[in-house]
Amino acid sequence: MNTKLKSYRNFPMVPRVVFGRGSFNQLSEIISPKRKSRKAPFIILVDDVFKGNAWLTSRIPLSYDDRLIYISANEEPKTSQVDALVEEIILSTKERPSGIIGIGGGTLLDLAKAVSIMLTNEGSASDYQGWDLVKSPAIYHVGIPTISGTGAEVSRTTVLTGPEKKLGINSDFTPFDQVILDPELTKDVPTEQWFFTGMDCFIHCIESLNGTYLNAFSESYGEKAYELCLEVFVVDKLTPEEAQDKLMMASWHGGMSIAYSQVGVAHALSYGLSYLLGTKHGIGNCIVFNHLEEFYPEGVKLFKDMMKLHNVELPIGLCANLEDHHFDTMINVALSLEPLWENAIGKDWKKTITPERLKALYKKI
Ligand code: NAD
Ligand code: ZN
Repeated sequence: MNTKLKSYRNFPMVPRVVFGRGSFNQLSEIISPKRKSRKAPFIILVDDVFKGNAWLTSRIPLSYDDRLIYISANEEPKTSQVDALVEEIILSTKERPSGIIGIGGGTLLDLAKAVSIMLTNEGSASDYQGWDLVKSPAIYHVGIPTISGTGAEVSRTTVLTGPEKKLGINSDFTPFDQVILDPELTKDVPTEQWFFTGMDCFIHCIESLNGTYLNAFSESYGEKAYELCLEVFVVDKLTPEEAQDKLMMASWHGGMSIAYSQVGVAHALSYGLSYLLGTKHGIGNCIVFNHLEEFYPEGVKLFKDMMKLHNVELPIGLCANLEDHHFDTMINVALSLEPLWENAIGKDWKKTITPERLKALYKKI
């Protein structure tokens, strides 16, 4: 191909990141210079799993009108939830906030990204679900993950369920301005959740490394993330601290890998499942991936080995009692994610990925 005719993507990365156990203590010194005025508070969105957990919350710096808002991560973020939060913040602050800080897993990180965008863009968050629809830069936003795997800390999207679709706000304004990677914050994640969210990263690697969009950029990050996942989930010879450090970096590299490629079949099907049944991302990906030998034979075999090694069982019969129109809904959501299929199968994906084939896959779940 004549390289002069080809246009390459030019995407933003998180400009500032700190990594290290205990680095969470630097939050105050990091955000202080970003304060616009005494009346322009920082709004800190925190997973409510940390309510009453003084080890973490006592280290959150609050000054002037700063507000800490606890949010449940039991359900994935919705556009209506973002709209309500934005309205509440606008009504309760004297000036536009100095920044939004998200502390938690992918759910809280995505909420923080979306709220920071919607404080400077009119309308509903659902108006911006898609690619490059955001017009004005978001306000300063900081992401502090407390569980590793999604790559939401580094990605260019915030995944939201809206009235019509589950789709991210993908834009150059979505990535965090600052990320604090403190692996110690993940020390109390329950084992099953650790596995499901960690497998999100493993699946990112498999889908990226086996995709048609793969290039040397995404391959280099994907291979590193894959290697780290194996150290954490297969070799299993690490101290808890080493495992936390490595999984946090795996998540970062997995996110970087898909930044310049795409996810694939598991994510497309899992989005359908989540849209209809509210199945959460980590476990939903695992449930689907378990049945994808025909697409990712080696990855699925390894995944099953890891499930055994960590005594994880997946729910079965999720789609057993669904009716035809339910299947249609899931299939429509999955098929609408065209870039994921194109990455997984190639430009001609429509020839082999039919509604019937997806229905047969969903019926196994
Ligand atoms: P999550 O944020 O939903 O959290 C999962 C569970 O772990 C929750 O019950 C939460 O309270 C708990 N938890 C988190 N940290 C904990 C800690 N330190 N100790 C104890 N419990 C803790 O999980 P997730 O898997 O990180 O995120 C899933 C979300 O991320 C979905 O909404 C998905 O759409 C989104 N996602 C976004 C991207 C992106 O690029 N933006 C990528 C993948 C997934
Ligand atoms: Zn994912």
